[in-house]
Amino acid sequence: MLRLPPFRYHRPSTIAEAVALRGEHGGESMYIAGGTDLIPNMKHRLFEPAHLIALKGIPGLGGIGEEGGHLRIGSVETLTAVATNELVQSRFPALAEAAAHVAGPQLRNAGTIGGNVCLDTRCTYYNQTAFWREALGFCLKKDGDVCHVTRVGKKCVAAHSADTPPVLMTLDAIVVLVGPEGEREVPIRDFFVADGIVNTLRTPEEILTEIRIPLSSAARRQAYAKLRQRKSIDFPLLTVAIAADMEADGTVLSIEAVVTALGSRPRVLSGWSEVAQGRTLDDDVVDELAARAYKQCHPLENIVVDADWRRAMVPVYVKRALAKVRIA
Ligand SMILES: Cc1cc2nc3c(=O)[nH]c(=O)nc-3n(C[C@H](O)[C@H](O)[C@H](O)COP(=O)(O)OP(=O)(O)OC[C@H]3O[C@@H](n4cnc5c(N)ncnc54)[C@H](O)[C@@H]3O)c2cc1C
Ligand code: SF4
Repeated sequence: MLRLPPFRYHRPSTIAEAVALRGEHGGESMYIAGGTDLIPNMKHRLFEPAHLIALKGIPGLGGIGEEGGHLRIGSVETLTAVATNELVQSRFPALAEAAAHVAGPQLRNAGTIGGNVCLDTRCTYYNQTAFWREALGFCLKKDGDVCHVTRVGKKCVAAHSADTPPVLMTLDAIVVLVGPEGEREVPIRDFFVADGIVNTLRTPEEILTEIRIPLSSAARRQAYAKLRQRKSIDFPLLTVAIAADMEADGTVLSIEAVVTALGSRPRVLSGWSEVAQGRTLDDDVVDELAARAYKQCHPLENIVVDADWRRAMVPVYVKRALAKVRIA
């Protein structure tokens, strides 16, 4: 049995109180939302905070509704709430679908969209017990000085493994962060960095308070497709999100695809609009886009499933997502 390390649990009732607690306890503390990722990680001794600062009881962090030209989603809304919300379903169906495909029902009832966006990266050599990792001599991301995936260099390439961010990127969402220095807005496209150790621009003191999606993005045709081992629960081996602006007759004005679970951050595939602009998504265009995606994606051995097979699945899942765009 894996036991939790000892910690104190704080339940602030305002955002300011939570940020102050983080300041008081510094690096000894962490924020917790649903705990569906943090708690297993603490059991694996990947994090050992002496103080957990709970975000779920803070009223200012909840709610889903339209506000000033965008859909506002409070960060502590659960994935179930996002997946079943009528506004999300009608305006941003790919987001509802992505949220509905995270983990399994119990985890979606507890896990939040904020926790999903802030999710730690994952790796075969990292998401293991302390005993397992010690036997291997640890690794760069935690307690060691070598990467068992690349075996060279000083860069961690653990996989970004969250389902909702690729969709949020295709919808031009913005994340709002509040910390000791005040509030800032960051386009989610710029939020992730290519560093498997810490892969977001969020500082440890900052709380992700809400996500804003421009209502104008609702006009895009959206699609999401996910490859995983067991459809009932697993993390993605590959996620594809696509959004397209199209004329009523199906002519593409612009189209964009974001993939994840391959490297440390979700990645926009290049050149899609150049291929599809002014054309309809007929079989030739779909084949060209799928081939382009295959060329650009090079999965690493950072996840337990064979990298060559995951690469072979890229065009398959791109085609599945494009089929949804065609009928959206
Ligand atoms: C068996 C299993 C399967 C899973 N499958 C998937 C999957 O298929 N797809 C997927 O995307 N995820 C999956 N997960 C991971 C997880 O359940 C979800 O990503 C969930 O959305 C995490 O949200 P949470 O609220 O539980 O985050 P927590 O565990 O509470 O927090 C995760 C991290 O984010 C930080 N954090 C949380 N909220 C905030 C905030 N508002 N501001 C600042 N920092 C914050 C925490 O400090 C912590 O570092 C799986 C987990 C398990 C155990
Ligand atoms: S990619 Fe390398 S450094 Fe990063 S978690 Fe995996 S083994 Fe460790």
